[in-house]
Formats: sequence, structure tokens, C-alpha cells
Amino acid sequence: MSIAKILESMDYGPAPESGKDADRWLTDHGRAFGNFINGKWSKPSAARSFETRNPATGSVLATITQSDARDVNRAVKSAKVAQTQWAARSGHERAKVLYALARLMQKHARLFAVLETLDNGKPIRESRDIDIPLVARHFYHHAGWAQLQSTEFPDHAPVGVVGQIVPWNFPLLMLAWKIAPAIAAGNAVVLKPAELTSLTALRFAVLCIEAGVPAGVINIITGDGRVGELIVDHADVNKIAFTGSTEVGRIIRQRTAGSGKKLSLELGGKSPFIVFEDADIDGAIEGLVDAIWLNQGEVCCAGSRLLVQEGIEKTFIAKLKARMATLRVGDPMDKCIDIGAIVDKSQVKQIAERVAAGIAEGATLFQAKTKLPSKGCFYPPTLLSDVHPSMSVVQDEIFGPVLVSMTFRTPDEAVELANNTRYGLAASIWSENINLALDIAPAVKAGVVWVNCTNQFDAAVGFGGYRESGVGREGGGEGMLEYLVPAFEKSTVTPPKTKPKMSAPAAKVNTSGIDRTSKLYIGGKQVRPDGGYSLSVCGPDGSAIGLVGGGNRKDIRNAVEAATKAGGWAKATAHLRAQILYYTAENLSARSSEFIDRLRQMTGVSAKQAEREVESSISRLFSYGAWADKFEGTVHAPPLRGVALAMKEPVGIIGMGCPEETPLLGFVSMMAPAIAMGNRTVLIPSNAHPLAATDFYQVLDTSDVPAGVVNIVTGDKTSLMQTLAEHEMVDGVWSFGSAIDGEIIERGSARSIKRTWVRDETDQNLYDPKQGEGREFLRQATEVKNIWIPYGE
Ligand code: NAD
Repeated sequence: MSIAKILESMDYGPAPESGKDADRWLTDHGRAFGNFINGKWSKPSAARSFETRNPATGSVLATITQSDARDVNRAVKSAKVAQTQWAARSGHERAKVLYALARLMQKHARLFAVLETLDNGKPIRESRDIDIPLVARHFYHHAGWAQLQSTEFPDHAPVGVVGQIVPWNFPLLMLAWKIAPAIAAGNAVVLKPAELTSLTALRFAVLCIEAGVPAGVINIITGDGRVGELIVDHADVNKIAFTGSTEVGRIIRQRTAGSGKKLSLELGGKSPFIVFEDADIDGAIEGLVDAIWLNQGEVCCAGSRLLVQEGIEKTFIAKLKARMATLRVGDPMDKCIDIGAIVDKSQVKQIAERVAAGIAEGATLFQAKTKLPSKGCFYPPTLLSDVHPSMSVVQDEIFGPVLVSMTFRTPDEAVELANNTRYGLAASIWSENINLALDIAPAVKAGVVWVNCTNQFDAAVGFGGYRESGVGREGGGEGMLEYLVPAFEKSTVTPPKTKPKMSAPAAKVNTSGIDRTSKLYIGGKQVRPDGGYSLSVCGPDGSAIGLVGGGNRKDIRNAVEAATKAGGWAKATAHLRAQILYYTAENLSARSSEFIDRLRQMTGVSAKQAEREVESSISRLFSYGAWADKFEGTVHAPPLRGVALAMKEPVGIIGMGCPEETPLLGFVSMMAPAIAMGNRTVLIPSNAHPLAATDFYQVLDTSDVPAGVVNIVTGDKTSLMQTLAEHEMVDGVWSFGSAIDGEIIERGSARSIKRTWVRDETDQNLYDPKQGEGREFLRQATEVKNIWIPYGE
């Protein structure tokens, strides 16, 4: 083409990246890979292998091992042996290894970028400028956490062996998000890359050898979901860290229920991109291009739901369509390409089917007349309008370059539409009115909110979602805590001598005549149980000392409804919450002799012991009165001109199964941190000794605790906990009781993916402030939302 013609068309010429070095590495490896276990490569076996292809051309890049149970066993065994020695090294020793990985990643950045693009299909511009620099940044950042571990995470120990399973959309970046914090904290890992994109993980194994990662600390094994299942089920794996679809996350939650394995899940999303009338429209259009067409839209936090204010809809959509026409789809190795190849044929098919379903439901399709390559897996940038909130294309993640567009009139309507999803990963808000944007940001249910920007990531800023987008955070201090467990020193505080009574409640008694039963406490009122049943409560000698309501599913539903109506508590000032907790303590103190008598009557403890339990409960309420305005967020300074505010938000409605023993202290130790952080609670008291909790109604009534913030349902704890765990409106569930209750809530929580916190009653000494109160409780009672705010004109 002549220069004159180029100037006339202003078209880009091709700017191809060379695949030579990546090709050479694959050839040197015989284009066949075994696993990387205990610092060594296993021999590839033709009988147990599958092909990995370049999605842009369809050509085979290499063959990869489909691992089996023996491979998984070997990898876990080597990790288990290596972990003890790795954890015994000083933080500084570990930091040096992470630093070496970061440096080596930078030295081989181009090779990794090319290999990623060949294997995944993402534009080289993105793998080179986004994925790989962020990978290096993660290892640097976490080298720092290793160095500071003993001072920044005192009283914490590594979890042990961690099984890590990652998806195909950001193969090496997801590996870094998983491996860097895990090994920084002193764990050893067995990581499985996605079957479609294993190559950069295998190339990373080479870096591990060069960086001096001790054999067994990092093991990479390949294969499909069956290999993932083997890792999930392995008895010697102490934690599973999973990134992938909500569907598989749910399966993993169920399979690990009751196993004692720690779990973090980073799942799907359908994130809103909200544009207000006063937004910088051109800026928002560029933001939107980045939000939905980065990585072909195969991004968990893609801004795939456009919500645009009615007054600017026409202008905005017209500009958007014009911009879509300029997007170049093609060879991902071409540096001038905007949209590369979809990872696989099966994914192209899935996208096409979902779009077709949307059209069948009435959506209007717009696709720019972009020229697509004649072969390979490509899909054009797509806009679906005329959609309504219940359509599948609006509710379900498409995981491709497909945007749906809706309008709103008022800020309240924007929030309602934004939250009308089962996910809660990210949101992007565009307005030149910072007051408006910062008013909307806390109202949107999402773990990450970008104000006038989108798809910003940094190792220091936590990432993760609410609801069906998962549990846990990756990055920052909160991400490190996912790879640590509180390591309580042997308690120096003597626990009570009585043995926990784990017996089921006594037989149901059908009350008639005068009802002298302690009722349930729902919405600030004492109410009769729906079923009309009562349960007898026995003293230590087996004699009946009272009756409590036998709550059922309907009572739990009513309690959750009352808690839902008490949403204003989340917005109450920390000062007000503190005052109410102190006041509750004061009122408990005024009635302490009644509670002492009650504890003695129920449990048979000595007067001294009962007094100690009441005093400890008063002190605990004081502690959370103190914490209410002190467990605050952080301001991060990520590499952009701006800040990221890590805000601590309440989890929402938390269901709680109290311990059997220490019935008053157990109840208070669970309720107080939750309400201090703005949560609403539904508590199921001790089965055997519920009267301390039902006596507490009067304390709550006289302490200005708003109706619905604390709800108490007595009855069969296990079945009530199951109902709470399965309830769609409950956001978190805590069980401080039996292993069976723990398993039930973990299994039940899988349906709507909610946070769970299970502590075995026999392992805890709530009298010891180190075990019975403090930061871990507050952490469990909060979600971290990161709000990114750029500044400058
Ligand atoms: P996927 O769930 O199908 O697979 C993810 C990984 O899990 C793969 O390695 C796969 O082999 C493995 N796997 C499949 N079945 C398994 C099972 N039964 N047990 C254990 N492991 C199993 O997801 P995908 O299609 O590879 O990735 C796309 C999904 O990942 C999207 O939903 C996306 O939103 C999500 N994602 C989330 C984040 C996040 O941080 N929240 C980041 C990237 C991707």
C-alpha cells in the first residue's frame, strides 16, 4: 500500500508479534508436557494426554497430561512434606524467593505474554501490558507480606496444603493471585490450570526452579475438572482456593462441607456499568469499551450490563455503536487488534446460543459490521437492547463480548436495577458529580466499585464478590488472611469445668391452657411459635425448669423478614451502635443476679462460675461497644492517580447457631460483633440451655436495640440452622456448635453461596479474649468493598 493510500484510509497496517521464542520453548519441550511435582517434571504419557490449541488458528500447540489420582496423591504428598519446612523458614527467607519470582517474571515478560496469547487468544497488547505486569506486581507485593508476616499477622499460622484451581480467562494472572499469597503465608500448593490454557502455568514451573522455590512448595498438575475433583476431595488438602464458574463453585462448596477445609471462591458476575446524565460521555464510552471488550468479554467482572440514564440514552447508544464499528477483531498476535480470539469453539457456541436465546426473548441485536478472520474462534462485539430485567441475557453471565443495555430514570432506580442480580462482583459508576457517585457506591452490592473508571486491579487492593460471585478476597491484607488461620496459643484462661450437653431438646409438649412458655423474639416482639409447639427445658438433674417455643421454618422466615426490614441498622452511625452496645451491657449488669440464678438453675454451675459468665458477657458487650467505631477501612494508594477506599461493610443478615455450653457468653459472643458492625441477626440459642437467651429479650427491649436487629428463635438447632443456611435472604451463617451443625450449614449455604463460619464448640474457650473476641470476629462480620476513585481533570 502506498503512503498516500495509507494517509487516505488512515487504516492500521498489521504489526505482528513474533511467536518464535515461545515456539522454540515448546519445541525444546518436545511439545509434550508432564506434571511438575516435587520440583521435577514427570514424563508425559501419550495414553493420558490431550491437545492444547491456539484458538486463533486451531493449530495444536502441545499435548498436556490428563492427571489421575496417583499424580494428585504424589503432588499432595510432596506439598505436605515441603510445607512444614517452608513454613519454618523466616518471612525474610520466603520473601527472597517471591522476589526472585517477580524479577524472573519481568525478565521473561515477553515470552510469557506471547505464550499466553497463543494459548488463550487474548490480544498481545493486553497480555503484554496488563496480565504479565500484574503477575509481577503480585509477586512483589506478596514478597512484602512474607517479609512482614510475623508483625502484621501475629497469632496466625499457614493453613497447610492448598489446592488451587483456576479458569482459562486470565491463566497466569489467576495463578499469581493464588500462588503468591499462599506461599508468602508459608503454605505449599497444588495448582491445576484450566485444561484449555495450561502452558503459562507450565512455563512458570521453570521459573520456580530458577527462583529456588524448594521442591514440593509449588506443584502444577494438569487436566480437566475430574482432576479438580480429586484435589478438592483429597484428605490432606487443608484449603481449596477456586476461581471459575458459580456452578462449579457450588459443587465444591458441597463436596467440602464438613471436611474442615478452608474455602475461598471467586466466581462469576454480571456487573452493572451505570452512566448518569452528567457523565463525561466520551470518557464513559471508552470505559465501556474497556469494561466489556477487554479480553473478549471473558472477564468475571466485565461491565456486561449497561444502565444508562434515560435522558442521554439516544446519544450514548449512537456514540457507542459508532465506536463499536471501529473495534478491530482479529489475530491476537497483531499489536493493533482490539479483540482477539475466544478461547475455544465450545465457548463461541455457548455465546452464540445465549445471544440467540436473548433475541428469541425479544432483545434487539446490534453487531458492527466488523470483519472477522475466516478461521479460528471469533465473535464480534455485540449489543443487545430492548431487554427487560428478567431476561436470561440480563441475568446470566455470557462470558463473551456481549453487552446488554437498559435505562433508568432516578439514582434509586439505578441502584435497584444494579442490584437486581444474584451476583455481586463489581460495578462501574460514571458521573461528574462525585457526591452522587459516592452515594451510589455503597448502595451497590458489589465487592469492587470503580468510579469513573473500570477494570482497575492491583495486588494491594482486595478483589472478590458478594452473593453468588463468591466468598473471600484476593489481594491485599484481606487476601493474605484467606491463607492463614488464627493460631491460638494454649489458652491460659481456665474454661468452665462442665461438659457441653449436646443432647437434642426434650420432647415436644403440646401446650394448652395457660401458656407459660418463653416465646420467640422476632421483630422486637415476643411471639408464639408458628407450630404451637413448645419444648421443655431441663435442669442439671433432669427436672423440667421451663418451656421454650419450638420454632419451625415459618418462624425462621418471619425472623429473616423482620431482619430484612431492619436494614436501617447498617446505615446507623458507628457511634450509635457503640452506645447501644454499652447500654445493653449496662442493662445486663443491672439484671446480673437474675442471670446468675438462671445459669445456675439451667447448668448447675457454681455461683462463682455463673457470676464469671455474666461478668464476661458484660465485658464482651463493652469490647464490641469499643470496636464499633474502631474496626475501620483503609485507603489504598494503587498505581493510578487516585485512591481505592477499602470500606468495611456489614455482611447483611447473619444466621447464628450458638454453642451449647456457656449459653449466655456464647450467645453474646456471637451477637455482639455482628451487630457492632451493622449486621442483623437471627440467633438459635443453645438447645440444652436456651433460657439465658430468652431472658435476654428484656435486656434488648430496654437497650434501644431496634426491632429486627436481633431475632431469637428457639427450637431444634440443627434443623433451624439448615433452614437459615438455605434461606436466599440470609447472607452469612455462623455455627459455634457441633461438627454436624457445621457440615449442615456449609452444605446448605452452597445453594446461594453464602459466607459461613464454623467453629467446633469443643475447640474454643470463649472466656479467653484471644479466642472469644476480637478482630477475627469482626472480620467475619464484615465484607471489604473497594471503591476506586481516580482524581485530576
Ligand atoms: P469452570 O468453572 O468451568 O472451570 C474452572 C476450573 O475448574 C477449571 O480449571 C476446571 O478444570 C475446573 N473444574 C471444572 N469442574 C470441576 C469440578 N467439578 N471440581 C473441581 N474443579 C473443576 O470455569 P471456566 O469456564 O474455566 O471459567 C469461567 C468462569 O470463571 C466464569 O464464570 C468467570 O466469571 C469465572 N471467573 C471468576 C473470576 C473471579 O475472580 N471472580 C476470575 C476469572 C474467572
